[in-house]
Parts: sequence; structure tokens; C-alpha cells
Amino acid sequence: MMELRDLYQEIIIDHNRNPRNHRIMANANYQAQGYNPLCGDQLTVYLNINEGVVQDISFVGCGCAISQASASLMTEALCGKTVAEAHDLFTKFHHMTTSDEEAVACLSLDKLVALAGVRAFPARVKCATLAWHTLECALKKEHVTVSTE
Ligand code: ZN
Repeated sequence: MMELRDLYQEIIIDHNRNPRNHRIMANANYQAQGYNPLCGDQLTVYLNINEGVVQDISFVGCGCAISQASASLMTEALCGKTVAEAHDLFTKFHHMTTSDEEAVACLSLDKLVALAGVRAFPARVKCATLAWHTLECALKKEHVTVSTE
């Protein structure tokens, strides 16, 4: 159990130091900004979605290691996925960070499981889920714009 925890720690440190897909996307067709005032984390998530598939996803931002690593892990997990799969992962991830250990085992979240430890720290849950809430917001925004035009 301790070894697993160390591995998770390593994934978070690695993604915080070398965030994946950390760039502004010029041709994004979905984007949103997220802010976690409790910790001061800020993120902008960019997506390029074509025919319901995430062709490209990136983020920029600043904040604590958990928030940045979570955003980095999220972009890695979602590239090439469909929008439906993205929503599904959001639900699973949210469940993982707020529910008990037994439920987590069957979620198959790959490296995202590294963030399961935040469950024990309610304030940190907001850091870990910020990227995902921003993603959901980005996906909704385009929809709202489309429906009002
Ligand atoms: Zn934070």
C-alpha cells in the first residue's frame, strides 16, 4: 500500500513539474476558465472537438501541484476520446475523489487514480476536480452558444 502511494506521489510530482499539453490553443472551439478561490488555483482549458471527438486538448494555468497535475493528467486521458467518454470519465473521477476505496477499484481510471488520495482532504478535492469542472463548463458553453443562435 505504501509503495502504491509513493507511485501516485511520483505521478503527481512528475505531471506538476512537466505538465503535458500545457499551451494556449489557437484553434480551440471550446474553452473555459476555472478558478478555485480556496487555494488560488487558476486554469484555462482548451479543446478542439471535431465530429464529437476530442482532437486536441490543452491547458494553461497556475496553482498548487494537485491542480496542475490533475489538469495535465486530464488532458492526457481525454485526447482522442469522444465527448460522451469525456463526460463519463468526469463522472468516474468525481466519484473517485468523493467516495470510498472499494468503489474505486473497478473504475479503471488508469493514472488518474493517482489523485484518489485527495479524498481524505476535502479542501484538496476542489484542487483535483477544478480541471474537470472547467472541462464540463467548456463543453456546456459551446452548447449554450449554439442553441441561442
Ligand atoms: Zn490547489
